[in-house]
Amino acid sequence: MKGKIALEEHWAIDETINIVGQPIAAGPFWEATRAKLVEFREKRLAGMDKNGIDYAILGLNSPGLQAILDTKQAVEIARRANDTLAEEVAHNPKRFGGFAGLPMQDPEAAARELTRCVKELGFKGAMVNCFTQRGEADSAIYYDLPEFRPFFATVEQLDVPFYLHPRLTLPSRTKTYEGHRWLYGPAWDFGSETATLALRLMGSGLFDEFPKLQLVLGHLGERIPFDMWRIDNLMRTMPVKHTAKRTISDYMRNNVHITTSGQFSDVPFHCALEAVGPSRIMFSVDYPYEEMEPAAQWFDNTKLAEPDRLAIGRTNAVKLFKLDLA
Ligand code: ZN
Repeated sequence: MKGKIALEEHWAIDETINIVGQPIAAGPFWEATRAKLVEFREKRLAGMDKNGIDYAILGLNSPGLQAILDTKQAVEIARRANDTLAEEVAHNPKRFGGFAGLPMQDPEAAARELTRCVKELGFKGAMVNCFTQRGEADSAIYYDLPEFRPFFATVEQLDVPFYLHPRLTLPSRTKTYEGHRWLYGPAWDFGSETATLALRLMGSGLFDEFPKLQLVLGHLGERIPFDMWRIDNLMRTMPVKHTAKRTISDYMRNNVHITTSGQFSDVPFHCALEAVGPSRIMFSVDYPYEEMEPAAQWFDNTKLAEPDRLAIGRTNAVKLFKLDLA
């Protein structure tokens, strides 16, 4: 399919490229990935051309800003990164858009930076790499806390999506992976950490307070579509308190969009399609952590009604991000 739009495509600046986390930050794969993260005008565009990707919205590398302990520094680096991305987008506005990287260490500063990025830089939304650290290394702050409610009021008011992207669980909390480091990374931990935060947001009643707020999850919904019925069922039957007024399925179908980033496989795709419907799925790659070719080859050939392929490959993103690509 020509004219695809991709949404979970990464980039980095010098200050964030070295904030990566273990164990994926070593070896030849990482060396090649680093080079691709900071390149916009040749290989990235050639890959997009070759694979029928018309336009990509770029988001800062993970964990990036969310792993900076000093709040003031996070605010400064976020601003520098967003300005750098704006310059790169301005160089090629028909091919690239920007997600704001945000200093979630300070929710008020994050709201101000998002407002600046949307209103002054023309960015299409925010991409945040899961929980944030703040002050000390062993800190993980989740955004269902009351201090983030005014931030989400701003996101809703700006009418832009909030892309919740994975990051690794803090090393101090990974005893469960002992002896199995292969689980501590994108293969498993990314999904469980991100899904947990997404479910915390839903379970906290965030979307009851801000019913127009739209969250985006990558990797076909970080496994939540597969588990939706079971979570709903147990939230109904278990005597454990939560403050959500609606079911998780309801939030997933009204407040969440999911992308195909890093999940180029028919079985989870068709599960997600049944679970949330074709209007809430969008194509993505997760470049450069994943390659464009297998993503596009799979998507172009998976069994799908052609109107759904067009919606998932392109028009859902045009509508959600109000893209003017004519
Ligand atoms: Zn990603």
